Amino acid sequence: MEPIQIIQILAFLLLTTLALVVSGKKYVGIYRNISMGKSEESAPNRILRWKNMLRIALGQGKMFANLPVAILHLCVYVAFVFTQIELIEIFADGITGSHRILYNSIQSSWFTGLYTAIISTIEVLSLLALIATFFFLARRNMLSIPRFRKAEMEGWPHRDANIILYWEIVLVTCIFLMNGADAALHPDEYGFVISSNLGPSLLGSFSENTLHLLERIGWWGHITGVFVFLIYLPYSKHLHILLAFPNTFYARQRPAGHIENLESVTQEIKLMMNPDTAFAAADPSAEIPTFGAKDIGDLTWKNLLDAYSCTECGRCTDQCPANLTGKKLSPRKVMMDTRDRMEELAAFRKSSGEEHDGKSLLSEEYVSVEELRACTTCNACVEACPVMINPLDIIIQMRRNLILEQSNSPEEWNALFNSIENSNAAWAFPASDRLKWTEN
Ligand code: SF4
Ligand code: SF4
Repeated sequence: MEPIQIIQILAFLLLTTLALVVSGKKYVGIYRNISMGKSEESAPNRILRWKNMLRIALGQGKMFANLPVAILHLCVYVAFVFTQIELIEIFADGITGSHRILYNSIQSSWFTGLYTAIISTIEVLSLLALIATFFFLARRNMLSIPRFRKAEMEGWPHRDANIILYWEIVLVTCIFLMNGADAALHPDEYGFVISSNLGPSLLGSFSENTLHLLERIGWWGHITGVFVFLIYLPYSKHLHILLAFPNTFYARQRPAGHIENLESVTQEIKLMMNPDTAFAAADPSAEIPTFGAKDIGDLTWKNLLDAYSCTECGRCTDQCPANLTGKKLSPRKVMMDTRDRMEELAAFRKSSGEEHDGKSLLSEEYVSVEELRACTTCNACVEACPVMINPLDIIIQMRRNLILEQSNSPEEWNALFNSIENSNAAWAFPASDRLKWTEN
């Protein structure tokens, strides 16, 4: 084995180990963060779980409301999936210090045609992905699309969305540089649909050494880009590429708009309606319940998985009647706040060894009272989400906490609550007088 091959193997193994250790640490951290949530029963219908995952996460089933954009999105997605095939050979080359190990092992057999067809498909998809990426960059930065211009998208979220698009351009360019230089070095081999046609004509004037160098730059550029992407992914909204799968798999299967009753409140109602049987069924040793959610530990693990799966696309906010009528509420921001607060609490626990930092998700710093009160519980955000996230569930849990734990409700509502509590009715009249309004 040549010294250069040994260097390639060592550098590749070092890079792989670094990427796996750094990203692995972050992925474990995310798993721990999601585990801070309360338990929640998984959706019961297993077949529906698989159907949801295959249709919505793999098949991008909810993306087709806007067909042209959906097609461009599909190009990037399919190119991403297909490029992994070429990555197998790049990995095999990295570990063995060889060059196009798959191609050389099947050379002159009928598999060569299959190999050429696969790489050509990847090239076509990569070109389409490149066009889509430029379109997405222009749309995000040059067009005034309201959902990309909301307050919660300023700063890092905006940069994050752009970084990944620039990175996509780097990755695709490296693939074409690698294939193009290779095709220019071996004009009679390969037959890749784009690089075998363009490579020799664009790069053919370079010397053999320069072409080798360009091929290596493309190869190392692509694999390094993949590793950087792997490390960057868990810090970015693009984590949804991975988490969309478990998130749709574990999505709730209740009817749309269904709001779960609070067990403790149901018990209260039973007491009011029928004190004798309800008292008999009550457990006197039971702990006094807390109502709703104030912070991360009050939400369920599924709420927290939702937060990490959010793509920050803003389709929910785009459909939210509260947001559309100028209110501060944005369901996307609720998800982003939940994720940010989760990260903050986890960092505090790690650095201090203490359980809680005294802050909470329900606060002016994160989700404010004004935002919570603006929600009409219409469920439009849940319907709009392409990866089955449920911002409404978090809003309802926090609103329950606001009212039942903190007695923080608008003055106008208090008379209603008092009447329900004292007279079992919305009006301040005894229940026995309920039907009086029908008289005369
Ligand atoms: S349920 Fe609330 S947050 Fe969701 S779209 Fe309706 S008003 Fe907006
Ligand atoms: S909750 Fe869903 S629709 Fe809303 S921004 Fe996140 S991914 Fe998009």
